[in-house]
Amino acid sequence: MKIGLDLDGVVVDIIAPILPHLAEICGRPVTTSDLTCFDLREALSLDEAQAERLGRLVLWGELYSLAPPVDGAIEAIQRLANHEIWFVTARPGKTRPHTIEWLERHGLPSSPLVLTEHGKKVVGEMGFDLFVEDDAGTAVGLAELGVNVLLFDHPWNQCPALPSNCRRVRGWTEIVSICEKEQVSR
Ligand SMILES: [Mg+2]
Repeated sequence: MKIGLDLDGVVVDIIAPILPHLAEICGRPVTTSDLTCFDLREALSLDEAQAERLGRLVLWGELYSLAPPVDGAIEAIQRLANHEIWFVTARPGKTRPHTIEWLERHGLPSSPLVLTEHGKKVVGEMGFDLFVEDDAGTAVGLAELGVNVLLFDHPWNQCPALPSNCRRVRGWTEIVSICEKEQVSR
């Protein structure tokens, strides 16, 4: 199968290194469970100045080097090596060197990396058999374009209804199990 993997929130735990900065910006402790909306400005009710600080943080390349992998992601992706794996992310273009360095450092150097600011339509036309995503809006959009999607469960993607070809998953063990079953059924 050709499998597309979103990076942040699926492969990379980008929230871990952001939390202390969010706490500083908000002037109070912030935990993952506070992030109930994909747009952090909305989730944390940031004012304009706070949102601007968050915007600068997102452009800070080191942040992407500091982030740990999502639990079980590295082992799982290595286990899926018999599939065609692509990394697809909406990270800013200037983070490419940090992203490549991170993938190499974690033993994932050989898959193509697409930094797309072109949106869902382009990704929808890349011929993925399966796409793993943590943004509910993107997940549903891709599903509507006919892509089978796995939505990686997080506090920020708790929308009530998903299309039939978009399924919520709770971690990498479940993703590997689905990929292995798909392969048998093909
Ligand atoms: Mg993501």
